Amino acid sequence: MPVGKFIQLFDYLDKSSQGCKRDLQLTIKFLEKHKCPIKDVTEWLYKNDGGCDCAVLANVEKQFVVRKIISELDYRDKDDEE
Ligand SMILES: [Zn+2]
Repeated sequence: MPVGKFIQLFDYLDKSSQGCKRDLQLTIKFLEKHKCPIKDVTEWLYKNDGGCDCAVLANVEKQFVVRKIISELDYRDKDDEE
């Protein structure tokens, strides 16, 4: 799944504030809508601490930011490392 789709997924989860049902219900709904490989993506999410919808936002989105895949997010404090 392309990175752009993950960003859309995070955005989608962010906006649907129906609350986490302790599963990947919303994530799967998104994947279905966008014709993404549900099994592959959910397996990957489980491995990356995204065991439910809120964990996807809390843990997986953070990893994208840390790896600087999301470049538009400002991470100025990282500059101190140099
Ligand atoms: Zn949750």
